[in-house]
Amino acid sequence: MKIAFIGLGNMGGGMAANLVKAGHQVHAFDLAQAALDRAVANGCVPFANMRDGVADVDAVVSMLPNGAIVKAVYSGDVIGHAPTGALLLDCSTIDVASAREVTVLAQAGGYRMVDAPVSGGIAAANAGTLTFMVGGTEQDFAEAQPILAAMGKAVIHAGESGAGQAAKICNNMLLGASMVATCEAFKLAERLGLDLQTFYDISSKASGQCWSMTSYCPVPGVGPETPADHDYQGGFATALMLKDLKLAMAAAQDAGAPVPMGHRAEELYAAFDAAGNGGMDFSAIIKTL
Ligand code: NAD
Repeated sequence: MKIAFIGLGNMGGGMAANLVKAGHQVHAFDLAQAALDRAVANGCVPFANMRDGVADVDAVVSMLPNGAIVKAVYSGDVIGHAPTGALLLDCSTIDVASAREVTVLAQAGGYRMVDAPVSGGIAAANAGTLTFMVGGTEQDFAEAQPILAAMGKAVIHAGESGAGQAAKICNNMLLGASMVATCEAFKLAERLGLDLQTFYDISSKASGQCWSMTSYCPVPGVGPETPADHDYQGGFATALMLKDLKLAMAAAQDAGAPVPMGHRAEELYAAFDAAGNGGMDFSAIIKTL
């Protein structure tokens, strides 16, 4: 297939490379020359003008920073410029309302579109082991599936348009809150004189067990190797966790859903980010407790 890929940053760079590896011809577009150069080194065909890049493709995939940029890119340079037969797939993490809005715009222009945000960070994007949560019709999901499968280990249909974004922010709100709770439990255990490895051995087999503890333990030297073992470098940046928590809070407000734990996690991550820790892995929040 001929696929246009827009947004070749930390995530998009590896994803586009995996589409090339799967045998697709990938038209690359990014505002940053360094991102474009890397895409060329990975076998993509560069385009200086996005409208030229999408002109004759079978699909458009985007991996962009936020909803405002996604709306601007699709309404300005994709809709009306790509062939109407092309399937549009936005993999960025954006607010549910913007995702639905862009899909409505695309549909009005005669296109089919899915929202397909990912779980998994830069390493998973490079390795082609992302999990995609997809919002769109059954038929559009079926068409999107093989394209996304070339970049991931799991492709799951979440529901209608916007459902992919909804699933993503609910999952990450749970992750943010569970990480803070996991950190608190370890710090309290320490104050109570427990050996932290012993507490891990007990809690990881008891009812407090969760992913933040057993797959991403925030305590150095306990559990599997995690960013905590590398002074909280790499992993999932605090700034990105905060972005997802803010999206979750906005969605909760729109939906009238009470989310007291998510709200508290958002406050704690906002303070940690404001103190200059946006680039650290989100498990580093344990340092504040
Ligand atoms: P990034 O900033 O590294 O990449 C974004 C790219 O988009 C940049 O190369 C930038 O130049 C380009 N860009 C911005 N505006 C553009 C425009 N108008 N036209 C073309 N290109 C444009 O960000 P990232 O870490 O790759 O994240 C991308 C998306 O993936 C975000 O929505 C993020 O929330 C989501 N995400 C990131 C991670 C992660 O661990 N980094 C994990 C899951 C989801």
